[in-house]
Amino acid sequence: MIVMSHPKKILVVSGHGADWCTRSGGTLIKYLQQGAQVLVLALTYGERGESPEYWRQNPNSTVEECKQCRRKEAQAAADMLGVQIQFLDYNDYPLVMDMSRVQNLIDIMLDYRPDIILTHSSGDPLNADHEETFKATIRAASCAGMLGAHPNTPNHFIPDIFLFESSLPHPEFNNFKMDTYVDISDVMDKKMAAVACFASQPQLPSYYTDCAARRAEQATNWMRGRKAVGQAEGFKRYTPFVGPLLPTIELW
Ligand SMILES: [Zn+2]
Repeated sequence: MIVMSHPKKILVVSGHGADWCTRSGGTLIKYLQQGAQVLVLALTYGERGESPEYWRQNPNSTVEECKQCRRKEAQAAADMLGVQIQFLDYNDYPLVMDMSRVQNLIDIMLDYRPDIILTHSSGDPLNADHEETFKATIRAASCAGMLGAHPNTPNHFIPDIFLFESSLPHPEFNNFKMDTYVDISDVMDKKMAAVACFASQPQLPSYYTDCAARRAEQATNWMRGRKAVGQAEGFKRYTPFVGPLLPTIELW
């Protein structure tokens, strides 16, 4: 098992209520097991664009009622995994990150001071909210790390930023080229129990079960017989690796 040099603080910026869990839930569990702290920012509940089953079952409902339902689902998943979640309620489809919203992200980053940020990838033409989340997160992280940009608050370093899966089942169409795999085999059951909390998106468990198997197959290929991976989550590094030696695959 790889042991962290110090407990990490992880910030996940999620466009909608479920994205953080489906795309990085397994990785978050593994960090939590090592004493890490996780804060999830849900920019929206996904009330309009990512709640198909809710609207199928409640065609005469209101957006506010849908938000309440989605908030309960996301909170249940967060409680199950033990992560802290904050709902910013910025409205989805379309999500528009204006100056004050980006500034709020900067303020949260300067207050929380994460070691690692997880968020959406840049290319997701079927889901402009995800692209908007990516742009706002990178913009906020770069502002929070710039000396002098916020004279009353010491600047933060730019954390390691990893981008998670784009919209499934189109990651190749979205030009999502992962370069990092996390083995989540030992926590897959717990992750999927949390994913099942999102009843308004009943397609998620099968999507992300298939995805974990496919990513694990790819990861196993790169292990070249050293280890087989059962289920994995895939990420793309946004920030480059910096260290005293080249980063190499570690056996665990
Ligand atoms: Zn989403």
